[in-house]
Amino acid sequence: MRILLTGGAGYIGSHIAVLLLGLGHEVTIYDNLSNSDRSVLGRISKIAGKTPDFFDADVNDSDVLEGVLRNQNIESVIHLAGLKAVGESVSYPLEYFKNNVSGIISLLGAMNRANVKSLIFSSSATVYGNPSYLPLDEEHPTCAVNPYGRTKLHCEEILSDIANSDSSWRISSLRYFNPVGAHDSGLLGDNPSGKPNNLAPYLMRVAAGTLDHVVIFGDDYETLDGTGVRDYIHVVDVAEGHCAALTELGDRELPFNVFNLGTGYGHSVFQMLAAFENVSTIKIPYIVGPRRPGDVASCFASTEKATEFLGWAAKKTLKDMCLSAWNFQKNRSF
Ligand code: NAD
Ligand code: UDP
Repeated sequence: MRILLTGGAGYIGSHIAVLLLGLGHEVTIYDNLSNSDRSVLGRISKIAGKTPDFFDADVNDSDVLEGVLRNQNIESVIHLAGLKAVGESVSYPLEYFKNNVSGIISLLGAMNRANVKSLIFSSSATVYGNPSYLPLDEEHPTCAVNPYGRTKLHCEEILSDIANSDSSWRISSLRYFNPVGAHDSGLLGDNPSGKPNNLAPYLMRVAAGTLDHVVIFGDDYETLDGTGVRDYIHVVDVAEGHCAALTELGDRELPFNVFNLGTGYGHSVFQMLAAFENVSTIKIPYIVGPRRPGDVASCFASTEKATEFLGWAAKKTLKDMCLSAWNFQKNRSF
């Protein structure tokens, strides 16, 4: 199958590209490189032994997208392109609505015109807001607590409405929990520009000595050790979830469905810090600061629906996540 990956040069998309190429699919990456680097294409080719086609363009350019869909004979789209930093979304909400919400409207228009109606969307556990029960299953009410989350929620609502209006669409929205880790080769991983917003890349940079210490955002939550608990999932497991979702999309009756991609287990910030210290054998300095606005105490997934319908479950351990992330950090010479 020929698959278009919008945002395919990014952290998660690059891992999906490698897996799809390995499965014999043809991959076209469409990315404006606003948060990634062209060099990732060479690294994907080095791992997969095949080079994806690449278009340096914006998802808001609907005509360019339509041309790519038609000329490349695309059969399915995985839509990862978008902005993803919660704090930044509070300061620049319009940028987030433009990239994430206008972006998906532009994409859906292009897909409609090119008659490509198979889509997997990168959503997020943030759509659940403050959990009213755990683990979070897909029936849990949704609620946005920041502009980033609101964009994901709006995108899901648009997808559901599109699927209601035309039953020939097949759309899955995958709600990722906390992707961490890197490819075993050490060639692909989470490499945010500037100071990382997320815990794992921050811990890595402190261990590598490029940042002094990590600030733990609150140790007075009602959790096992007072710090926030999250469902960390290996990025390769997330990528495999997309391959499973693509297969399921081809076989199913329902035009729109949502699935959690998580492990079902939560780990605290202190547990993550200890796990990274263990694999790096480096003491990671930290201070405890105030809670970060908008953070919830605990968040982890129910994985039952993904297991039942996608036949997929995360396989990798927390140690795998930390080791691969550290390996990537140490090998970052590209
Ligand atoms: P990333 O920033 O590494 O990758 C996103 C890619 O999209 C980048 O290569 C960027 O250049 C590209 N892009 C951004 N705006 C674009 C536009 N308007 N047109 C074309 N390309 C554009 O992020 P990621 O971690 O790989 O995340 C991928 C998707 O998964 C995002 O939609 C994100 O919101 C979602 N997600 C990520 C996480 C996470 O923790 N990483 C969690 C939940 C959901
Ligand atoms: N966190 C932290 N310090 C940091 C970054 C994150 O203590 O520098 C905590 C955060 O409060 C949360 C967990 O680590 O409890 C995961 O945060 P991250 O931003 O990685 O993911 P989120 O779940 O917020 O999307």
